[in-house]
Amino acid sequence: MKRKEKIEIERPKIRRSWDRNPATRVHEPTKVYNRKKEKTVVFKPEDESGLHQPAGGESDSVAMEKRYRYCPYCATPLEEKFSDDRHRWACPDCDFVWYNNPVPACGGVILKEGKVLLVKRKYEPRKGGWTLPAGFMENDESPEDCTKRELEEETGLKVEVKDIFGVYEAGDDPRTKVVLILHNVEVVGGELKPGDDASDIGFFSHQKLPANIAFKAHRRALSKLFGRPV
Ligand SMILES: [Zn+2]
Repeated sequence: MKRKEKIEIERPKIRRSWDRNPATRVHEPTKVYNRKKEKTVVFKPEDESGLHQPAGGESDSVAMEKRYRYCPYCATPLEEKFSDDRHRWACPDCDFVWYNNPVPACGGVILKEGKVLLVKRKYEPRKGGWTLPAGFMENDESPEDCTKRELEEETGLKVEVKDIFGVYEAGDDPRTKVVLILHNVEVVGGELKPGDDASDIGFFSHQKLPANIAFKAHRRALSKLFGRPV
């Protein structure tokens, strides 16, 4: 992705008057200030559903309905702009641009006698649904670190990461759009037990897979694993 904008993070400006307070400032959606003479377009609510659609054109992108309303650095209402051939939301005061990138999540495929290890989600979203053990990557982790940590947290098993099983995009997690990175792993220790975010855990054959696989990325990965649709 090209990022042409020069991004300079400025210190928040001192509030000059009461109307700088985003809680009281009136933002008219039909009026966009063109302070920097950049190309801007008028925000029309009915246009919002057409923004930020996933590349694959899939309509499962529930996370895309949400967006930031205010700049996370200086709290100025974001305005719509057009850059890199995309509509984006940007701050007119401090040059922050919300790129709305997907978030990486990592996990592992553990097989035993042709059965795959799945965990049951303890919390929303999709509480009660089953997934491969996986979770969001922290800022100070590599994908391999994340897979090792998530598997130990969710399954109690210590693993060594071997190689990539597959990488999947998914837009049906209401929290954010996700890129799921799944590794082939080898169990090197630990004791199998549901932990942290998991309320149950088990090995499943293709014939006995739970009906409620929580996310489409995991369903796609299981389809690849078993070589037939899941
Ligand atoms: Zn700002």
